[in-house]
Amino acid sequence: MHEFSIADAIVRATQEVVQANGGGKVEQIHLRIGELRQVVPDALLFAFDILKQDTPLSEACLQWETVPAQVRCKACGTEYHPQDVFWECPSCGAIGAEVVAGEELEIVAITLMEGSDAD
Ligand SMILES: [Zn+2]
Repeated sequence: MHEFSIADAIVRATQEVVQANGGGKVEQIHLRIGELRQVVPDALLFAFDILKQDTPLSEACLQWETVPAQVRCKACGTEYHPQDVFWECPSCGAIGAEVVAGEELEIVAITLMEGSDAD
């Protein structure tokens, strides 16, 4: 279940940002997750709920938007949305392409709880 490693990365990165900004309790984390990460939402939330315990994120909730996958054909340069595991260019039929978008795993915003003090 790779959602655990993703959730772990989110928890660690958020803690670093919060500490660098004086601490506090996190209310919400907003993310962008690429479609190619193939994140199962329930699995990510489950992993996050376990890993956030005993951290400043213990009451935080997770929100994210999915970034659609986009790839570029290596043969003709056409950009398209890959439909299955074989990336076949709709223009020339070539198999294989380079990723343009869809591998994102970014923290867009971190909201702290009002009135939470640095510790
Ligand atoms: Zn092509």
